[in-house]
Amino acid sequence: MSKVLIIEDEQSIAELEKDYLELYAFEVSIENDGKKGLDRAILENYDIVIVDLMLPSIDGFEICKRIREIKDIPILVVSAKKEDIDKIRGLELGADDYITKPFSPSELVARVKAHLSRYERLRGTGTGQENEFIEIRGIKIDKTARRVFVNGEEKILTTKEFDLLAFLAGNPNRVFTKEELFKEIWNMDSFGDIATVTVHIKKIREKIELNTAKPQYIETIWGVGYRFKV
Ligand code: CA
Repeated sequence: MSKVLIIEDEQSIAELEKDYLELYAFEVSIENDGKKGLDRAILENYDIVIVDLMLPSIDGFEICKRIREIKDIPILVVSAKKEDIDKIRGLELGADDYITKPFSPSELVARVKAHLSRYERLRGTGTGQENEFIEIRGIKIDKTARRVFVNGEEKILTTKEFDLLAFLAGNPNRVFTKEELFKEIWNMDSFGDIATVTVHIKKIREKIELNTAKPQYIETIWGVGYRFKV
């Protein structure tokens, strides 16, 4: 099921879009605020983002630009003003399509479907089964293919290193104790040697961090454990 994020401050419009997309079995989330919408678009895994241009805190122009810097997902821009659409087209911020309000809900669904299938083709998955990715600030973890890329460069991790990294990144900003991580990744009770966790964290950092003394991804919370920072 494809996941859609709608960033729209007019609740009635957002609800209308949501209702219609849900009829076609899309899983839809709504965010009314620009900044929060941008955060969710980046941190959570959506297949497509529908963004209004005029929004509180951060506008749709900035949202397009920022999503595009990090993520390769379709962005559909919605605006009441044709001039704004012309403007965003001219700025080439990376939006894939534009719709002027008012639009028919069926047109919206048609465009969403078209862009999703286009991206699927571009990715060359073609099987209908999309790889599951976690992407946070330059790091891209392909959970399906079990591959890790940092700023586009592939890093080779061992099985347990990968499991540990994917687990931490999949639960961003949560602090886990070494015991919890040991239990989670090594599938044993916490009677094993939890120093294993420390060793693995060190190895992962050597592979993914620019400066292991100042890790930007996996942070040590002294006396507690680790967390993946976002
Ligand atoms: Ca608006």
